Amino acid sequence: MIEVAIRQRKSPVLTPSSLPCLRQVATLNVTEGCALGCKYCYIQGYSHYPGAARVVLYESLPGLVAAELQRKRRKPRRVYFSPSSDAFQYLPQVQDVSRRTMQVLLEAGVEVAFLTKGFVRRPFLELFVDHADAVFAKIGITTLDRKLWRAMEPGTAPPEMRVATIAALRKMGVHATARLDPLIADVTGADENVVPLLRALAQADIREAAASYIFTRTPFERQVVATLARLERGAHPPASWAMQTFAEGAGRGRMIGLDQRSRRFARLQALGTSAGVRIRPCRCKNPESADEPCAITGPADRTAQGIRNQGELSFVAPHVPARVST
Ligand code: SF4
Repeated sequence: MIEVAIRQRKSPVLTPSSLPCLRQVATLNVTEGCALGCKYCYIQGYSHYPGAARVVLYESLPGLVAAELQRKRRKPRRVYFSPSSDAFQYLPQVQDVSRRTMQVLLEAGVEVAFLTKGFVRRPFLELFVDHADAVFAKIGITTLDRKLWRAMEPGTAPPEMRVATIAALRKMGVHATARLDPLIADVTGADENVVPLLRALAQADIREAAASYIFTRTPFERQVVATLARLERGAHPPASWAMQTFAEGAGRGRMIGLDQRSRRFARLQALGTSAGVRIRPCRCKNPESADEPCAITGPADRTAQGIRNQGELSFVAPHVPARVST
C-alpha cells in the first residue's frame, strides 16, 4: 500500500541538476520518493526520501510550471524528468500530474526528456504524437527475466512492455532508446541475460543503448545484498566492490573496479555489435571508460533524431500491479 501525500511547492520548480550529464537542461521531479521500489535505488539515501511506502506528489506542478515559463525571459530549451523519481509511476495521480506538466511544457515549445522504467500509458502517447520531435525518451531495462525483474524492480513495468514502449515511441517519431543501467556483474550483466535482451531490442529496431554497472551506498546496500542472496545470485557481492568517485559532481558509490568494468564494457559492446545495438557506457559513472557522453537527456540537436515520424499512435496496454493500491 503506497500513501500519496500532496504537497505544494513554493520554490522554483525548473532547476538545473548538479549532475554533470544534466547540467545543460532544467530538471523536474513530480514526486519525492518513488513507488516503483527498485532495490538499488540511490534516492533511498537522500535526506528527504519519504520511505518505501510513501510518495509526496507536487500536485500543483502544471500551474507552477506555466507561471514560471511566463515569468522567465528565456524559457529552458528542454526539461528532464526526473532525476530523483519516475514520472511514469503506476499511481494514477502521478500519471495525471506528469502528463499535464509535460503538456504545459510541450505546448509552450519546451522539449521534454525523460528516463523511465514505468508505464507510458495512452494519454502520454496521445500527447507525444503531436510533439514527437520535441520528446526524448530513455527506457531503463536490464533483463527480460521475470524473476530478476520482480525481485529487483518490483513496481516497474514488465520488461516486454518496456521494449514495446520504446518501439511504440519510435514508431511515432519520438527519439527513444534504451538504458541498460544498473547491470549487475554476472547477474543481469551475464552473457545469458544480456544476449536475449540485446536481441529483443534489435528486433524492436532499437539500435542504441547506454549502459552502466550497479553502485551501492550504505542506506541501500544491505537490501541489494539480501535480494541477490534470495535469488542465489551473489557471485559479486558488494562487499568485494571498491568505493569509486564518479565524474565531477556525480558523487561516489561502491562498484566493481575499473579493470573489471573496462573488460565487461568491452564484452558488452562486442555483444551489442553482434546484435546490432550500439552500447555507450554512461560517462557520469564511468569517466574512464566512456569517450563520449551517453546523452541521457537526448541528443543536443533534435534534427539529429533521424527518425521518420510515421504519425501513428501505437497503444501500449496499461498494466497496474494488482497488489498495490493507494
Ligand atoms: S524507477 Fe528510478 S527513481 Fe523509481 S525506484 Fe526505480 S531507480 Fe528509483
